[in-house]
Amino acid sequence: MVSRVIPVDPFDLVIFGGTGDLARRKILPGLFRRYCSGQMPENARIIGAARSDMEAHDYAALAAEAIQEFGGGKACEDGTLEKFLTCLDYVTIDARGDRGWSELQARVAGKDRIEAFYFSVAPSLFGDLAERLQSHGMADSKARIVVEKPFGRDLASAQALNATLAKYFDEKQIYRIDHYLGKETVQNLMAVRFGNMLFEPLWNSQFVDHIQITVAETVGVGGRGEYYDKSGAMRDMVQNHLMQLLCLIAMEPPARFSPDAVRDEKLKVIRALDPVEPHHIVRGQYDADPDDPDAMPDYRTAVDNPRSKTESFLALKTHIANWRWAGTPFYLRTGKRLCARSSEISIVFKDTPHSIFGEEAGRHRNVLSIRLQPNEGITLGVTIKEPGPGGMRLIDVPLDMSFADALGPDGAEHVDAYERLIMDVIRGNQTLFMRGDEVEAAWAWTDPIIEGWTKRGDVPKPYDSHGAGPDTSTQLMRRDDREWREITP
Ligand code: NAD
Repeated sequence: MVSRVIPVDPFDLVIFGGTGDLARRKILPGLFRRYCSGQMPENARIIGAARSDMEAHDYAALAAEAIQEFGGGKACEDGTLEKFLTCLDYVTIDARGDRGWSELQARVAGKDRIEAFYFSVAPSLFGDLAERLQSHGMADSKARIVVEKPFGRDLASAQALNATLAKYFDEKQIYRIDHYLGKETVQNLMAVRFGNMLFEPLWNSQFVDHIQITVAETVGVGGRGEYYDKSGAMRDMVQNHLMQLLCLIAMEPPARFSPDAVRDEKLKVIRALDPVEPHHIVRGQYDADPDDPDAMPDYRTAVDNPRSKTESFLALKTHIANWRWAGTPFYLRTGKRLCARSSEISIVFKDTPHSIFGEEAGRHRNVLSIRLQPNEGITLGVTIKEPGPGGMRLIDVPLDMSFADALGPDGAEHVDAYERLIMDVIRGNQTLFMRGDEVEAAWAWTDPIIEGWTKRGDVPKPYDSHGAGPDTSTQLMRRDDREWREITP
C-alpha cells in the first residue's frame, strides 16, 4: 500500500529554541522527513531563532548533524539533505530583550505565506515571545504559534498562560502540543471506534468491565532531574498524555471529525471525571539498579534531592460520572525505570452473562488492546476452543493487527508524532491540539489530587528498578479482583 502525501502550502516556520534538544532530536529531523516525502514545498523556510551567536551556515551544519544523529528516516535521494538545508536560516534572538527581533521581522514580513512560530523554549519565555511577536508586527492573522509542554504546573498558572497568549493571539492561532495525539495509533483509536459498527455498541459500562491505560518507560530521569523533581509523573504524564488518551477512549462520538467537535467531546469527559480518593492512588520512586547502581542510581540520587517526595511512578483509579461510564473504573499507570517501554490502552470486556461450558472452563474476557509503542497495533483477545480432542476447553487467542504486517512497509511508514503535528499546524488543523479550556479542566481535576497528597505529607513507596512498580499498585487492582496487564516490550 502506498501512502498518499498531500503537499502543504508554502510557509515560514520560526523555531524559537531552534538549537535546543527538542529541535535537534524531533523538529529538524521530522521536517527533513516531510521534505523527503514531498510534503514540504521546496520554497518553505525554516528559521532557527535562539540565543547562540551563529550564522545561517552554522545552523545548517547543526541541523545536518542532528538529522544524521536522530534519524532522517527513509533513505532520501542523493543531494536531498543539501537541498533541504538551503531552506534553513538563522537569527540570534533574545526572548527577553530587543536583540534579533527587527531582523526576524525583516525576514518574515511582507510575504504572502503561512507563518508559524514554534515556542520550543522554556515555558517561562512563552509570554515574552508572544508579546514581542506582537510588538514587532508578527502576530497578525496569518500567524500561528505552537506551544510546547508543560502548559502550566497547576490551574492558576495555566489560566495565567492562557490569558497572556490570548492578549496577542486568537484561540484559533494557538496550537498546544501533546505529542501523544500525533501518534498513528491514537488516531486509529478514533478510526476503530467511529469507523466500525463492531465496537461502539459495546463501548459502555454495560459491556466494559474496566479500562486500563499504561505508559511505562525503562529510562530514569536522566539529565532532566531538576525539571522532573519539580513536576513528577502526575504533572509530566498523567495530566496531559494519559488524560488525552482517556478522553479519546471515553468521549461520545463527535458529530464530525473537526477540531471543535472533537475537543468539545473531550472536554465533557474531563469535566465528568470524579475526584480521586486517596486510597485509589499509588505513588512510587524507583530504587537503584542493584547490578549497576552507579549508572542507574535511585530516584533521589538521580535528582540530587535526598528528601524528594516527587513520584516517578503513579497509578490511580478514577471514574467518569456520566451515563455511558457510570460504574466502570479507569485505571491509569505510568512510571519510569520499569521493566519495559510500553504504552498500551486495554478495554477489558465483561464476562459472558452465563457460561454454557461450566465452571471448569474458567473466566475468559475479551480484551481490546491498543498499543501505542513500540510495535503500534491493535489486538483483540477472543476465546476459542483449545484444539484437539479431550472435551471443550477454552483458551484466549489474539486477533492481531500489527500495522506493519497489515499495511506493508509503505503503509506503515513511520511518521513521527512531531512531524505529523507540525504539518497539521501548517494546514491549520487543530483537531490534534489541546484547546485552552481542555488544559484548564485537566488541571482543575489534577490540582486537588496533588494538594491532597502534599497536605497529607504522603511519601512515595520505593519500587524495584525494572519491575512493574510498587506492590501497592498490584494491590490497587487486586482489591477489585482485577489484574494489571503485563508490561511487555
Ligand atoms: P533546551 O534547553 O535544550 O533548549 C532551549 C532553547 O531555548 C535553546 O535553543 C536556547 O538557545 C533557547 N533559549 C533559551 N533562553 C533563550 C532566550 N532568552 N532567548 C532566546 N532563546 C533562548 O530545551 P529543550 O529540551 O529543547 O526544550 C524546549 C521546550 O520543549 C521546553 O518547553 C520543554 O519543556 C519542551 N519539551 C522538550 C522535550 C525534549 O525532549 N527535549 C520534550 C517535550 C517538551
